[in-house]
Amino acid sequence: MNTELEQISTIFESQKVAFEKGVMASYEARKNNLLALQKLIEDNEKSIIAALREDLGKSEFEGAISETLFTINEIKHTLKSLKKWMKKRFHLAPHLQFPAWSWTRPEPLGKVLIISPWNYPFQLLMSPLIGALAAGNVVILKPSEIAVATSKVIAELVPRYFSSDVVSVVEGAVEETQALLDLPFDHIFYTGNGSVGRIVMEKAAKHLCPVTLELGGKSPCLVLEADNISLAAKRIVWGKFFNTGQTCVAPDYILVHESRFDELVDNLKKYITEFFGDNPQMSEDYGRIISERHFTRLLDLINPEDVLHGGKGDQKDLYLEPTLVKADFHKKVMEDEIFGPILPLVKVKSFDEAKQLIFKRPNPLAAYLFSDSNTIIERFVSEIPSGGQCINDSIVHLTSPHLPFGGRGASGMGAYHGKKSFDTFSHTKSIMHRGTFLDLPVRYPPYKGKLGLIRKLLSWLG
Ligand code: NAD
Repeated sequence: MNTELEQISTIFESQKVAFEKGVMASYEARKNNLLALQKLIEDNEKSIIAALREDLGKSEFEGAISETLFTINEIKHTLKSLKKWMKKRFHLAPHLQFPAWSWTRPEPLGKVLIISPWNYPFQLLMSPLIGALAAGNVVILKPSEIAVATSKVIAELVPRYFSSDVVSVVEGAVEETQALLDLPFDHIFYTGNGSVGRIVMEKAAKHLCPVTLELGGKSPCLVLEADNISLAAKRIVWGKFFNTGQTCVAPDYILVHESRFDELVDNLKKYITEFFGDNPQMSEDYGRIISERHFTRLLDLINPEDVLHGGKGDQKDLYLEPTLVKADFHKKVMEDEIFGPILPLVKVKSFDEAKQLIFKRPNPLAAYLFSDSNTIIERFVSEIPSGGQCINDSIVHLTSPHLPFGGRGASGMGAYHGKKSFDTFSHTKSIMHRGTFLDLPVRYPPYKGKLGLIRKLLSWLG
């Protein structure tokens, strides 16, 4: 149920008061709220997974590994290190300031807004929440209205496990989100498409509010001289058709060496059938497209003449076959992020040609390479700009809490996961504490004759 517009500023104001009272300042408060989130998930995993199934046809396995268990894992990782992350760090003070002690101290940013999309509608809201709570902030969560069932379950559960002064949910669509964006938050964390990302940034600019933008893009996947094409195909099919291709880091298209095209296509078909059977519509493990709008958008990208596998759908069931198409950069399917179960394959002659094609598009969120050549791997890592990269696999790099996750350029700004989430939602405050038992007179006016001494001291002290 959409939150009343008048209620939104009331929630914001009461969180502001609570934050200023220091409700989240202590380690204990942060730890207890993280444990509350863990308990929320553990107590209600069944209803969360049922909501994900209702919205996206997600299997229990996918719902657990990519949403609930993923989030619990991140909480555990955070709790293990939180005390250490919160510690002040001492730094050297310049000799000329002697006596002095310097240190930095992470402090919470304050009032945080987290806006999430529909494709991983639970995890993409809760994973940033972990960082925001660990760093000591108060938070308003805005789930995606398009994942109706998950938004509802989140709105029901959050008030049962959190004080509304620390975490509140605002449900709704554009109007409610715009009302939130008018408020002077201290940080906005947005995940979704780039057009709304621009609106978020524009609105945030009014309050000079910093933003993290987790956006999307067309993530390329290069298959060049990989020895094991079968394993490459298996890992690509898994990463591409997980959540029916509705994953921000899914391989969007393949750039394959022309000599391996047929072998790769055969292996991709083989694994689609091995994973989802002859009729994936009957498979427990193959999901659905989120909405009719996205279904017709996707169907429109498929040119029947280019289909190598699949290509058909059932609109009533929002089912679209895992689809392989041959493509070049002039095809419609190569214009925008696909965000669905269609995988175009483009033939290339060399790494250099693949690189040129990648540079035709804005910086992607992820880039993949399947290769056994150290020279090509080194060139891929050093010459292809992207948010993140994974070599000889797809999408799994984002599961590591030790690796910051985020885009660059059109695929986003800022990053999170693990320690990086804590840093994203913290301000690093620098402090210098001067001693009073000594006060060198050289810095005070009148300055006449003192500059030479300063130069000598600086060169002597290094
Ligand atoms: P969406 O339509 O659910 O929108 C995201 C959020 O923006 C929602 O909460 C929605 O209410 C809000 N919103 C929509 N229009 C708005 C407007 N005019 N003003 C203010 N708020 C508005 O989800 P989406 O954008 O379709 O999500 C898919 C995109 O997200 C893809 O491009 C995908 O690559 C990207 N994505 C990125 C990541 C990442 O981590 N980088 C993760 C998942 C999805």
